[in-house]
Amino acid sequence: MEMKKGETIVLYPSPGIGHLISMVELGKSILELNPPFSITILITQASFNTGSTAPYVLSVESSFPSITFLHLPPISLPLDASHSPHHEALIFRLLRLNNRIVHQSLLSLSLSSSVLVILYDLFCHPVLDVASQLHIPCYCFFSSGAACLATFLYFPTLHHLNPASFKDLQDAPLHFPGLPPVPASAMPLPMLDRNDEAYDGCVHVTGSLTKPDGILINTFDELEPRALRAISDGSCVPDAPTPPIYCIGPLIAKEKGEGGKECMHWPSRSVVFLCFGSLGLFSAAQLKEIAVGLERSGQRFLWVVRSPPSEDPSKRFLATPEPDLEALLPDGFLERTKGRGLVLKSWAPQMAVLSHDSVGGFVTHCGWNSVLEALCAGVPMVAWPLYAEQRLNRVVMVEEMGLAMPMVGAEKGWVEAEEVEKRVRGLMESEEGKALRERMAEMRDKAMAALGEGGSSRTVLAELTRMWKRG
Ligand code: UDP
Repeated sequence: MEMKKGETIVLYPSPGIGHLISMVELGKSILELNPPFSITILITQASFNTGSTAPYVLSVESSFPSITFLHLPPISLPLDASHSPHHEALIFRLLRLNNRIVHQSLLSLSLSSSVLVILYDLFCHPVLDVASQLHIPCYCFFSSGAACLATFLYFPTLHHLNPASFKDLQDAPLHFPGLPPVPASAMPLPMLDRNDEAYDGCVHVTGSLTKPDGILINTFDELEPRALRAISDGSCVPDAPTPPIYCIGPLIAKEKGEGGKECMHWPSRSVVFLCFGSLGLFSAAQLKEIAVGLERSGQRFLWVVRSPPSEDPSKRFLATPEPDLEALLPDGFLERTKGRGLVLKSWAPQMAVLSHDSVGGFVTHCGWNSVLEALCAGVPMVAWPLYAEQRLNRVVMVEEMGLAMPMVGAEKGWVEAEEVEKRVRGLMESEEGKALRERMAEMRDKAMAALGEGGSSRTVLAELTRMWKRG
């Protein structure tokens, strides 16, 4: 007699801790609905730096027995496989090569489990072909916000309408449905130059967005109403139907952690936290400039510092070593700021820090997980975008949502100490900072309502889960 197979949902994140964390949270949120199936997460192993995921995977494995990680065999991709300066070009190559392995893994998995649906990260879109061959429903999980999704949906149209590279248009405004004008220079870095391999990858990736059975977005209705309307009414894709979209966020890691405990005894809302994602790096000169600005601001701070990027181009995609703080920071800085400033090497438990009462402001690189984490903790932000779609997020955070003030100069790659001093002080002490904090608190309440019993995001996810189960 044939054994009855268990049922599972497959999640396929692209490499990188930022992508993995929100996918895992998606898995956990599905499990909270007590569905009669398990979650299987495919882990792609990259030979270049995508942020360390191993400790995180171990901690999830030990706490959530219904989540299984399937570690795919590594693919050897030489670091010089691409001439593009962008990390994304390597990721696109890797994920194309990975598709055969994913196909094999799904076939093996289907011997023991019935796969109800595949939820893939946008970069993993080649899996759409595999899903179609195996007759498995396939949904995109868009791990950034609706404004970014609107831009990506419209990107193939813009690519045909506008023959120039965005880098040559400089600050000329681009008009996307549902967004404030976006300076061409604020487009994601791999989209700036038409002659770059990463640009072709972006055309393919964004063009694939009309193909899945639906798109899940890590946002909620009240955060980005204008962009969501533009997506739903089809304005972003003039020549094809837009797949149904489902807002299921904010999904954020409820991470605990130890780092930075000293400043947790400091007064309520007195500490500004500076942290720049899993891959954010600054030059040695910029690190010194930040230090001078922080010291002059007189504010309490908790700052995560990494070593500057290697000057050796062959190492540009590898992890940097632990920073030597004494050598990197101005002479005597650590001593002089003792008791009111704390520098952590390389990593802090961000969500635990943001949730703490002593933290009152956040200087962020505008990665979408970081934005949502700040929002859920009600902590106002200064936006200092660095890579990926972060400059686009900055435009929306500052001009549309009113949840952040900009760090002027960031978009051109250099911020003066005076600007750091002014913004940090402004965030913590000015009327503008206070207004941002109040708006953050309102938005946090709306986020909690969306996730709570009967809330929009929770209801949508419950309906999807029932639909996947029915098939
Ligand atoms: N993160 C953290 N500590 C750090 C840096 C990052 O816990 O020192 C976490 C952060 O809380 C977030 C994720 O790593 O959940 C980064 O995701 P995000 O989308 O903000 O940026 P990315 O790293 O993908 O650019």
